[in-house]
Amino acid sequence: MDKAILDVVASSAYVMGPKVKEMETAFAEYTGMKHCIACNSGTDALLLALKAWDIHEGDAVFVPSFTFFASAEVIAMQGATPVFVDVDENTYNMDPADLQRKIEQTIKNGKWVPKAVIAVDLFGLPADFKAIRAVADHYGLYLLEDGAQGFGGMLEGQKACTFGDIATTSFFPAKPVGCYGDGGAIFTNNDEWAALMESYHIHGKGSDRYDNVRIGMNSRMDSIQAAVLLVKLKAFKDYELVDVNKVAERYTELLHDVVKTPVVPEGYFSSWAQYTIQVRDEQQRAELQTALKVLDIPTAIYYPIPMHRQTAFRYLNPEENHCPVSDRLAKTVISLPIHPYLSKEDQDVICAAVRKELKGH
Ligand SMILES: *Cc1c(COP(=O)(O)O)cnc(C)c1O
Repeated sequence: MDKAILDVVASSAYVMGPKVKEMETAFAEYTGMKHCIACNSGTDALLLALKAWDIHEGDAVFVPSFTFFASAEVIAMQGATPVFVDVDENTYNMDPADLQRKIEQTIKNGKWVPKAVIAVDLFGLPADFKAIRAVADHYGLYLLEDGAQGFGGMLEGQKACTFGDIATTSFFPAKPVGCYGDGGAIFTNNDEWAALMESYHIHGKGSDRYDNVRIGMNSRMDSIQAAVLLVKLKAFKDYELVDVNKVAERYTELLHDVVKTPVVPEGYFSSWAQYTIQVRDEQQRAELQTALKVLDIPTAIYYPIPMHRQTAFRYLNPEENHCPVSDRLAKTVISLPIHPYLSKEDQDVICAAVRKELKGH
């Protein structure tokens, strides 16, 4: 890793150097997608996809309520309206039946035109793409896969970041493949959209960077991040993805009798961006978090506020964004430490503490 970084420093090609092309080729190859465009973050990747599809004011885009803010934020950044869809309580991913309901409701109320669905691979598990694809196709909607947490996951042997018409990922350090700062990527097999996103991410460039044919943005990837990602991708392929799955399996073995552990349905494979359990209620969660904190065991709440309750979205009608499962999960989920390098000894300490705290209940 040190050599990879120092080589970039020595080359002085800090932004969009040859390392970025190399990284794009490696990530396209891993997923099997025709185009990979590296950019500055997972958020920008989503935004660039919506730009390629010309999502704008008057359009409705369907997105799960239980997700990271960026999945929904980009819709509003384009001036379009996010319509929040509830999630499945076992997989934490978009509920296809509620997607259909929310599309029907949007058509009926006639204020916005349904244009796209953003399905999120939450916590590393691919969304239910068979069902979601069927609904999206039925209504003629674009399907965008937010694979920020999903890279490395699989559904019936097909890799995450290949299910959407466009798919995106993030290389923020906490994601399954993280760089040493911010980074993101976009995947598609569509040449026309790839060319548009290539242009939008460098100031709407035309034939060169000083020929600007559309209003774009600056979302280039730093060469150092690309060099880091090439090293990380190799480790991810060689052992990290396998090892993190072993850690997750062991958590489930040691905890499933005292708490609701994550569900990986038949045919699915997770890349475990998070290991998220569900406890009884907010109070039990607070007590568990405190008990673990005393032992220096970090935990996190992903996510405490569903999108339909966010202050930034208070202008939307709550009646149209009813998501009871997301509401409940926001109060009951808690994520335990997980990464490919978690030792059995540390995991035993974590599990013993969780068991001790929850057993009485
Ligand atoms: C992290 C994340 C993003 C945004 O990625 P950044 O690289 O942090 O901009 C988008 N969607 C989801 C689901 C995420 O977890």
